[in-house]
Amino acid sequence: MACTIADVAIGVPKRTLFEYLVGETLPVVGARVLVPFGRRKLVGVVLGLKSDSNWPLEKLKPIEQVLDDQPVFSDNLLTMLKWASQYYQHPVGDVLQSALPVLLRNGKSSQMPPVLMWQCTVLGQQTDESELKRSPKQQQLLNQLQQQSMLDSELKQQFGSAIINALHKKQLIEKQQVIPELNNNWHTELQISAGPQPGIEQSLAITGITSQLEHFHPVLLEGVTGSGKTEVYLQAILPLLQQAKQVLILVPEIGLTPQTVQRFKQRFNAPVGLLHSNLTDNERLAVWRQAKQGQLAIVIGTRSAIFTPFKQLGMIIVDEEHDNSYKQQDGFRYHGRDLAVIRARQQNIPLVLGSATPSLESLHNALTKKYQHFQLHKRAGVSQIARQQIFDIKNQPLQYGIAKGMQDRMAAHLKQGNQVMVFINRRGYAPSLLCHHCGHVEMCHRCDKSYTLHKGLNKLQCHHCGDAKAIPARCSQCGSNQMISMGVGTEQLEQGLNQLFPAYKTLRIDSDNIRSKSRFHQMLDDINQGEYQILIGTQILAKGHHFPNVTLVLIVDVDGALFSMDYRAAENLSQLITQVAGRAGRAEQPGEMWLQSHHPDHPLLQDLLHNGYGHFARYALQERKLAQLPPFSFQALLRAEANSANKAHQFLQLAQQYFNGADNVISMGPFPALMEKRQGRYRMQLLLQSPNRASLQKTLFQAIPQIELLPESSKVRWSVDVDPQDFS
Ligand code: ADP
Ligand code: ZN
Ligand code: ZN
Repeated sequence: MACTIADVAIGVPKRTLFEYLVGETLPVVGARVLVPFGRRKLVGVVLGLKSDSNWPLEKLKPIEQVLDDQPVFSDNLLTMLKWASQYYQHPVGDVLQSALPVLLRNGKSSQMPPVLMWQCTVLGQQTDESELKRSPKQQQLLNQLQQQSMLDSELKQQFGSAIINALHKKQLIEKQQVIPELNNNWHTELQISAGPQPGIEQSLAITGITSQLEHFHPVLLEGVTGSGKTEVYLQAILPLLQQAKQVLILVPEIGLTPQTVQRFKQRFNAPVGLLHSNLTDNERLAVWRQAKQGQLAIVIGTRSAIFTPFKQLGMIIVDEEHDNSYKQQDGFRYHGRDLAVIRARQQNIPLVLGSATPSLESLHNALTKKYQHFQLHKRAGVSQIARQQIFDIKNQPLQYGIAKGMQDRMAAHLKQGNQVMVFINRRGYAPSLLCHHCGHVEMCHRCDKSYTLHKGLNKLQCHHCGDAKAIPARCSQCGSNQMISMGVGTEQLEQGLNQLFPAYKTLRIDSDNIRSKSRFHQMLDDINQGEYQILIGTQILAKGHHFPNVTLVLIVDVDGALFSMDYRAAENLSQLITQVAGRAGRAEQPGEMWLQSHHPDHPLLQDLLHNGYGHFARYALQERKLAQLPPFSFQALLRAEANSANKAHQFLQLAQQYFNGADNVISMGPFPALMEKRQGRYRMQLLLQSPNRASLQKTLFQAIPQIELLPESSKVRWSVDVDPQDFS
């Protein structure tokens, strides 16, 4: 019987597929089609073809246009996406849309689009890089373009516009709109530049990974920072590339780690594609196509790169697998690392998860032998990990949040010509503005949180909704002009340190101060050139960079995380401390790290400092086991927000009845979110937990469609978050 009806997934918030009549052209499964939907025309993806429907045929509308003759999703990818739609309880149409480059979502042709590329001019090819030795950056750029042309956005990301323009003015480089052409023969011409001889532990890992390339084989590579994990990846993928198989590498943020990308490009003469947030739509589509056609050997990308199509995917690597940025925090709330596991299993290929501070989930899988476990205990390079110590600030006078004893340590390091790094997790001048006369604190009424004082911007700003207003000269309650700031943020710390150490230059690095990636790279260069001696920063400094001249790291306040309601806060703090300690100092100057705390005897701090992250994490796992928290149980969070707390609460109470009596699943709440009010909306949560993943899945699968039918469900904003990472 002829197939006359297509099941189409459309990016609307409905869990069902939609039926359309097939016209003259029979679409293939996985191809995009243009279909009428209400008054609109939408792009959908064909998920099935059939010959009859429960609807009378005359009710069905015809497909308007078939957009692809080849599927945009392979069977493998489609299976993973359908799985993800079910697992994360997210409408399949929206899942498929999120997995496509924007241009394809909008119905553009999947033909190769032109992109802006830079290449050397003839003059540039003939110019010796040593002629540019006054500017090492220009030299490096020219050198790279002499080897291959590069995408405009990629070059901007790596060097910034100023350097590019300088070389352009000298007529050494030129740009062009081109349709990127690559060949599929990169593997026959594969050349490898020499890498270091692997150490014993590295060799074990490389052999372990490469001995099982033909099937699903998950590996946790737990290695301290600088132990040579990247080197293991480089050597482990070589045999795959030689077989023309492609490799996908997920990283938390490409902009912060251009060195990693460089290392893959330099090791192999094979084409590497990058997927990150700074690409133009055309560039993104170009990478998507090249990967799909097998023209790229390696794709390095952030979270959503897990949806990249490949001709022949041979391995997935997830670097810094513990990083929270792998979890999408709105809409389709998938976890990039977890989907990597699913995809690798689906495609029957090896998977490598690497981290110095593995997530408790992955560590648990390694310890229970679900993953093969390799450890790199020692650093490969010469530098050493900073010694970590606690500074008890009970009853200590603090200036700008810093104890006198710590100021003395700073002075000693600075005097020796070294750099000092100070971490504080609050941006702005001060976390709140207080009336000294009546005690009133200026609050954002939309979020019930105090405004942060930004002196530089001359504004009060709410860090939760972005609302900003002028700094009031007088108290809005009593009219007094005695307004004082309370607490310390990066901005105030910078001013304070300038006063305490006037002979040294400070640099503040936070998201207020980093306007662009290229500016950030400039800052990193300046730091390593020794232009600044005191660095003040937020978490952003913990990612991916090595600061050889930093010999003292100070974390101003660790207590917040010790007593947080979020059970993951301690894990995250330990990861931060360990990551930072690994990024400072070198062999002859191993460096020291101090944590200021009112609770120096806290068991978590003690364990972390004396026994290291690996020990702490194994201990934390035991605690989680006793408390029956993940990874020893499985959670889903039902979130609701409304213009009154009551409405949100009532909705969740109604929803809760569908979980009562569920097999093996308990529901807790409804309770207010950690951030109870935001942008004028009240936020409540219902937590579902089960010792068994399948039970939780089954319960959600039955309950969510029914909750969706509740009339109350259209009166609140609500969502399901499976495996929630935070409760804010
Ligand atoms: P990680 O990814 O664990 O942080 P890297 O792979 O970046 O570690 O290695 C840290 C440094 O040590 C790099 O400069 C790298 O080139 C070097 N390195 C790695 N493995 C070796 C080795 N076996 N011998 C010498 N140097 C090495
Ligand atoms: Zn007042
Ligand atoms: Zn607000």
